Amino acid sequence: MADRFLVVIPVDPKAPLPETSDAVRGALANIAGTTQARVKDYGKLQFIDAGLNAQSITCPTCQQDVAEDQWHMWMQEDWHGAEGFHLHKHQMPCCGATLTVNDLLYDAPQGFARWFIGARTEREGLLAPEELSQLEAVAGLPLKAIAQRY
Ligand SMILES: [Zn+2]
Repeated sequence: MADRFLVVIPVDPKAPLPETSDAVRGALANIAGTTQARVKDYGKLQFIDAGLNAQSITCPTCQQDVAEDQWHMWMQEDWHGAEGFHLHKHQMPCCGATLTVNDLLYDAPQGFARWFIGARTEREGLLAPEELSQLEAVAGLPLKAIAQRY
């Protein structure tokens, strides 16, 4: 059986862990129908992936697919070891736009953040928009939903 998690990260990758994080964890656990929920604060920028749910990466400017090799190269360039990721601007080979890896469109959603709050779930797919709004109200900042499957 697959391990599934409902995860939220801040829309702003630089956002530090808010004081509301425990309340968000509680609300997310409720939504996910679990007692297994956690707050993870890396203290540096990390890639919060979707695991097996990750399918494609697309350029938001021209909608072309981003080649996996290209993306891996950027990920390596942006990785600064103990400092975590730095979101450098990269020139897109498809249309010349200069974007960071966090600007790309990930299907399923993935993103970069210094922390995440996650809960185990039996559910498939992302949080519903109204569930995400509810968590944003508790958190006091805009959040991005990620559905992980491993
Ligand atoms: Zn493009």
